[in-house]
Amino acid sequence: MIDLHTHSLFSDGELVPAELTRRFEAAGYRALAITDHGDQSNIDLIIPRIVAFCEEINRHGGIKVIPGIELTHIPPDAIPALVNRSRKLGAKLVVVHGETIVEPVAPGTNRMAIDASADILAHPGLITEEEVLSAKANAVFLELTSRKGHSLTNGHVARLAQKAKAPLVLNSDAHAPGDIWPIARLHEIVVGAGLTEDAYQTMIKNAEQIVERCLTSRK
Ligand SMILES: [Zn+2]
Ligand SMILES: [Zn+2]
Repeated sequence: MIDLHTHSLFSDGELVPAELTRRFEAAGYRALAITDHGDQSNIDLIIPRIVAFCEEINRHGGIKVIPGIELTHIPPDAIPALVNRSRKLGAKLVVVHGETIVEPVAPGTNRMAIDASADILAHPGLITEEEVLSAKANAVFLELTSRKGHSLTNGHVARLAQKAKAPLVLNSDAHAPGDIWPIARLHEIVVGAGLTEDAYQTMIKNAEQIVERCLTSRK
């Protein structure tokens, strides 16, 4: 199993990257992305540190760790430039903190993240059908999440993505040890959002493809 959206204490997570990684490994995961909250003030500090950590930890075998970032509460107009800057700084996976209904994320964030071809649009809230179609066209993965609050709109996201055949991924958005979902129960989140077990298998394959691309892409 793979999780492509987690937080360490480089933002508001509780664990250093090494413990976050070890806890996911102990839970049976084979890969994860560390995607701390970033904005204009901190991406140049966080991303190089996470890149260095991943290069080091990935030499030891076992779980693979992908350096990422979650661009969070960015004014929509600034999103494209920050997506590019994050990639230049070494982020292999750029997540954008989408328009969850439990936070005042700026309207237009989902649209800009999709137009900027971010890798994953996290918790996109009440995303529109048109945006879902654009996400599919731009190969932006839409997220179902096990995180409380953000998960309130999983059913809506699942329904529109299924209708459009847009790609989905399932992530924990883990900030603390208790957020690491048992692998044996992950399918319940997908089925609970109204999708089938087959859809769950497709989501696993989507995550595998993303990891493959991240691990083989050049600096
Ligand atoms: Zn987020
Ligand atoms: Zn997050």
